[in-house]
Order: sequence, then C-alpha cells, then structure tokens
Amino acid sequence: MLNYIPKSNYLRDKVILVTGAGAGIGKEAALQYARYGASVILLGKTVKKLESVYDQILTEGGCEPAIVPLDLLGATPNHYAGLAGSIEDQFGQLDGLLHNAAMLSQLRPFAQISVEDWQAVMQVNVNSQFYLTQALLPLLKKSQSASVIFTTSSVGLKGRAYWGPYAISKFATQGMMEVLADEYENSSMRFNCLNPGGTRTAMRASAFPAEDSSLLKTPSDIMPYYLYLMDGEASTERGMTLHAQA
Ligand code: NDP
Repeated sequence: MLNYIPKSNYLRDKVILVTGAGAGIGKEAALQYARYGASVILLGKTVKKLESVYDQILTEGGCEPAIVPLDLLGATPNHYAGLAGSIEDQFGQLDGLLHNAAMLSQLRPFAQISVEDWQAVMQVNVNSQFYLTQALLPLLKKSQSASVIFTTSSVGLKGRAYWGPYAISKFATQGMMEVLADEYENSSMRFNCLNPGGTRTAMRASAFPAEDSSLLKTPSDIMPYYLYLMDGEASTERGMTLHAQA
C-alpha cells in the first residue's frame, strides 16, 4: 500500500467532482477530499445518499459541497454542458475529477448478454465519462494543476469469462485515459487510472455474494492513492494505471 501522508488542508481552495459519491468508494473519496479542504461536487443517482454525504461533510466542518443528482443512464450531452456551466457559475474552477460511478450488470456468458444490458453498461460506464470529460475540459484546463482519475478494474486489464460488458467497459475506460494522457502530456492536466482492487462495497457483494466480506479492504483502507493522485505537488504521474492495494 502506498505510504503517502497528505499535508493537512492540501486540497484547500480546490474544487473536485466525484461521480457515484453517494455510496461505496466514491462516498469515501468525497468525504476524504472534503476533510483535506476541498469543495466537493457530489454527483450520483440517489438524492438521499448524496444528501447524507453532504450532511456528513458539513458536520465534520468541511466546505459546503454541491449536490448534482444525475442518472448517468439517461443523461445527455446537454445535461453535461449544463453541469459545466453551473460549476463555472458556482465555483469558477475545477481542479479534480474522479470518474468513479459504474454499474456491473449481471455476470453471464457472452452469448447471453442482452442488447439492453450491453447498452446500459456502455452508457453508464463509458459514454457518460466521454460526455462529462469533454464538457469539463475547458474548466479543467484553467486549473493550475488538474487531476482526472478514471476507475478501472482487474477485469479491465485482463478479460475474464462472464464479466462481459463491465469488463469491456473498463478496457474502454483505460483507452480513454491513455488517449487523453497522450493528447495533454504537456499540459497542466494529469490523467490516470486507478484500480481499487477487491473492496467491501455493494458492487463487490453483488459480484461475489458468497465471499467473506470481512476479509476485504474497506473504501477507507484504499484511500491513499485517491488522495495522492489529487495532490499536484506530490504526484507527477501521467497516463499511469495504479493499483490502490499494491
Ligand atoms: P458501488 O456500487 O458501491 O457504488 C457505485 C456508485 O455509483 C453509487 O454511488 C451509485 O449510485 C453510482 N452509480 C451507479 N450507477 C449510476 C448511474 N446510472 N448514475 C449515477 N450514479 C450511478 O460501487 P463501488 O464503490 O464498489 O465501485 C466504485 C468504482 O470502483 C466503480 O467504478 C467500480 O467499477 C470500481 N471497482 C470496484 C471494485 C470493488 O471491489 N468494489 C473493484 C474494482 C473496481 P447509487 O448508489 O445512487 O445507485
């Protein structure tokens, strides 16, 4: 595990958007970024979960976050353009983007993947990341040091039977990060992928219902890389795929 100890308040005056911020790894990352001083934009599907994270951040004395209720399945490029405009109006800047939200869908043989499942996973896990990143690039470019983190998975680095659209969507995510990292290699923006590794969340439980989840790392355990990659002074990584549990 990375031995990185962030300086207190190292994210002060930074604005960071986290997708899937209402639960699991995204919730923990949003809370941690707020603890280190960031203004966090909480994007997710279920408003109640986002409100609970919002409340917790305020209770802990963090900067007031913003809530963006958005179902990535139905969102169109217009929604993302509107979001970029709202961030510009409310915060005037964006310094970090954690692409974390994803759906798993049912694990099944390739021959049995339905068109609906295929399209839903690609929309949520791939298309939304394209729309969102493209819409936010002008704001990210203005930051002195912007970090964009994409979330990959072991099955997005080596394909695995029955993991169908989810695994393929993570290969596409990896590709999107590499294209961006190469195009912007001389810019102030850094693009990297982070693989959380098996982590105790609802998604993991639905993929491995029979395992003993107490043996898994928690979202809190895997935060060092999430914090490190947002640190413009410590992290020089570009176009890398890092493993949160390595
Ligand atoms: P969870 O299922 O616990 O959380 C996923 C989050 O994404 C939730 O907040 C969920 O919102 C949100 N989300 C899902 N679908 C949509 C949608 N259509 N629109 C908006 N938000 C949506 O997953 P994890 O925390 O486990 O996973 C986080 C990331 O880590 C994912 O990219 C996953 O692929 C990756 N990962 C996880 C591993 C693990 O072992 N946990 C291992 C490898 C990779 P809501 O709760 O409102 O539905």
